Amino acid sequence: MEDKRRLISPAPQNDDNDRAVESLRPSRLCDYIGQEKVVSELKIYLEAVKQRNESLDHILFYGPPGLGKTTLAYIIAHELDIFIESTSGPALEHPGDIAAILTNLGRRDALFIDEIHRLNRVVEEKLYPAMEDFRLDLVMGQGPAARVIPLDLEPFTLIGATTRFGALSSPLRDRFGIIFRLDFYSVEELEKVVLRTADILNIETDTAGAREIAARSRGTPRIANRLLRRVRDFAQVTSDGTITQSIVSKALGVMEIDDHGLDPMDRRLLKIIARNYGGGPVGIDTLATALMEDRETIEDVYEPYLIQLGFLHRTSRGRMLSPSAFQFMGIPRPSAYLSPELPFDTDS
Ligand code: ADP
Repeated sequence: MEDKRRLISPAPQNDDNDRAVESLRPSRLCDYIGQEKVVSELKIYLEAVKQRNESLDHILFYGPPGLGKTTLAYIIAHELDIFIESTSGPALEHPGDIAAILTNLGRRDALFIDEIHRLNRVVEEKLYPAMEDFRLDLVMGQGPAARVIPLDLEPFTLIGATTRFGALSSPLRDRFGIIFRLDFYSVEELEKVVLRTADILNIETDTAGAREIAARSRGTPRIANRLLRRVRDFAQVTSDGTITQSIVSKALGVMEIDDHGLDPMDRRLLKIIARNYGGGPVGIDTLATALMEDRETIEDVYEPYLIQLGFLHRTSRGRMLSPSAFQFMGIPRPSAYLSPELPFDTDS
């Protein structure tokens, strides 16, 4: 498992869940920074259902952790002034769990299921008629005497979030009328996130300091907010509390987070591919064993940003480093190294 204390992990950590952090979530679409295409499309859909007084179509958000999927689910509920029940794929163990939640939803309410790719099959199958016809098939009795009793549900909106679009079964995927992919944020957008959070938490920050945090936040608002809070501690103890570029550089230097936002674990991953496998290709399972990490964590947490930086490629033959990754690490490329940037079949 990924080290939960890892500062630049995009996964939520304990102190991300306290009330102060919860207050950082924008609650209106107009306060949601970036993801312009998603926001402008969503605005139209929300306006349309408001005018018709109908429930919103089922909606799926996918993309790496920490990019604002949950935030969007709550924004939808807020904008439509509806109740939202929140759960996650692994929390729904039995068909009865989902039945209890669905029968409690009122007209137009929303059900948010995080990590929806981790729903078990029986629960997932209960969702199909619920999503399609607002119907729940209750099974009474057992064996040959079992009877299915259909129960009508109020029209509701299922909001799903996942880091792994490909892991969703196609019957589930097909039942979402609206599907949005969230992308990593630009440095400019993250700078706005940092300045907004600094404002809410009353943290003195100059623009260069905010930009420096933004640049090292791996395109992820959750990381930007976390780095801001850690740098605040540093600024408070070592200077007058104001966050400047030099304080950020010093603080993140101590935390071993480099200019790209990479930490020792990312660098270890790149180095293992460079030194042990000549730059690749190396299979994901081999890499997972070498790093003593599970495959899913490598795929969901480490790789997306390394791919975004152009350091890593997922190819049909395995993971490969780009020439820029060798340059970044100051490691010479082995003579047998084949650049993945040459015409090549990739599946990333
Ligand atoms: P996900 O569900 O994709 O893992 P969240 O919605 O929980 O991510 O977002 C993580 C944190 O990042 C939130 O608490 C929120 O404060 C912040 N955040 C996410 N997206 C935005 C955004 N577009 N603008 C401002 N803050 C954001």
